[in-house]
Amino acid sequence: MLIILLGPPGAGKGTQAERLVSKYNLDYIATGDILRNAIKSGSPLGKQARGYMEKGQLVPDEIVVGIVKERLMESASRGGALLDGFPRTVAQARSLDDVLQEMGLKLDHVIHIEVEEEELIARLTGRRVCRDCGANYHIKFNSPKVRNVCDQCGGELYQREDDSLATVTERLAVYKKQTEPLIDYYAAQKLITTINGNQEIDAIFTEICTLLDQQKP
Ligand code: ADP
Ligand code: ADP
Ligand code: ZN
Repeated sequence: MLIILLGPPGAGKGTQAERLVSKYNLDYIATGDILRNAIKSGSPLGKQARGYMEKGQLVPDEIVVGIVKERLMESASRGGALLDGFPRTVAQARSLDDVLQEMGLKLDHVIHIEVEEEELIARLTGRRVCRDCGANYHIKFNSPKVRNVCDQCGGELYQREDDSLATVTERLAVYKKQTEPLIDYYAAQKLITTINGNQEIDAIFTEICTLLDQQKP
């Protein structure tokens, strides 16, 4: 099973991904997490990516395509993979199509989570992330049992630097311009399903599971 989660920053991709990966035993490929880990470890990749991420802009296509290709090779032997935050441009989507064709794989679903802008801003500016496992929380909408402590692993929660209001505004503009065209791209391939992301986390999860559990003719 090969799935893409598509949607604006703050739509709830990471939150749903965490649940989906565990239920369907998928390899989780989140380019944002991979890039943040690279920055944390001070690797050459992190040095290349940092400036773009701080400004809320996209890291160049060649860099992220390379990362995803490598990860897909590794996960080919497992039950499948969930892509979160990739592709983000039509060029990345085309490269992914090429890579998958080379590997003899194909996409099963592109799940588009739709949420309006005002709600996205509230979600992103209140987001907290676990330093250790990357789990997502929200100070109001999805708070941990103990303040600033991860329910999953006990790690410390922090606020991402790019979740400040100014950078959030830029990221939403970047999404509209560079990523939204992917909705038409995947609609043309009859792969996309749009889910109303303005529901409770559990309701969205149930809807996605119903889609994935459908037997294909
Ligand atoms: P993305 O990965 O799409 O950027 P996240 O999964 O990190 O989004 O969610 C963004 C923020 O919104 C997080 O703080 C998360 O806890 C919260 N959130 C996720 N899903 C919902 C939801 N359905 N309702 C309210 N808040 C949500
Ligand atoms: P969010 O979950 O809020 O949508 P991500 O964690 O996916 O954010 O991404 C954070 C940042 O990492 C992006 O603003 C961008 O700079 C960079 N990034 C992540 N994935 C990609 C990608 N596929 N292409 C280019 N840049 C990316
Ligand atoms: Zn954690």
